[in-house]
Amino acid sequence: MNPPHGLLFIFSGPSGSGKSTITHEILATVPGLAFSVSHTTRAPRPGERDGEDYHFIDKRSFLALRDQEPSGFLEWAQVHDNLYGTSVHEVRTKQLQGLDILLDIDVQGAQQVLAKRPESISIFLCPPSVDVLSKRLQRRATETQESFVLRLRNARKEMSHAPDYKYLIVNDVLQDAITAFRSIIIAERLQHRRMPNGQPAPAKLW
Ligand code: 5GP
Repeated sequence: MNPPHGLLFIFSGPSGSGKSTITHEILATVPGLAFSVSHTTRAPRPGERDGEDYHFIDKRSFLALRDQEPSGFLEWAQVHDNLYGTSVHEVRTKQLQGLDILLDIDVQGAQQVLAKRPESISIFLCPPSVDVLSKRLQRRATETQESFVLRLRNARKEMSHAPDYKYLIVNDVLQDAITAFRSIIIAERLQHRRMPNGQPAPAKLW
């Protein structure tokens, strides 16, 4: 199959699973892959930059974008009391440039994207255990106790959806998880980017 534009990689996993670390490493080392910068009503954490980590917007603006006809969002969801969404514009612009897109979204968002774009490639990142996850979350100075409890509860719920994803990566040893992710991207590119005569596409794939 030859998609007319870049591939969509959906990357989900509970808070504290190491998703952000892996996402940063993959984006820094895999050419031709762009991050889909989501919109959120969550307040920025120290060090986060508007337009790079997220488009930080207020709830009113978020709802206005959501309620546009057609909706400004490819998907959106409430996660941990905040609203998050992937804008149609963000994805379309980057895909039309021939870039593959990485969506870091939760399981609700993943279901919506898969319903609209079934050719998307879904990857779920698991911590080695709930115990390890709990310790990782506790170490994060960014979380209040209340937010910690909420995130842990949501993590258990999220992990029950892991079997719905095409690929499952367990983040036990970070470098192994990164290698696994990179291998998935390479394999999917090799599978999708064939020339009509069956020859591989000449572009550099990793
Ligand atoms: P955080 O607040 O820690 O950055 O993200 C919390 C959760 O929201 C993460 O699981 C992340 O994947 C998810 N998330 C981030 N952006 C989006 C988005 O655009 N849509 C959806 N559905 N979830 C998102």
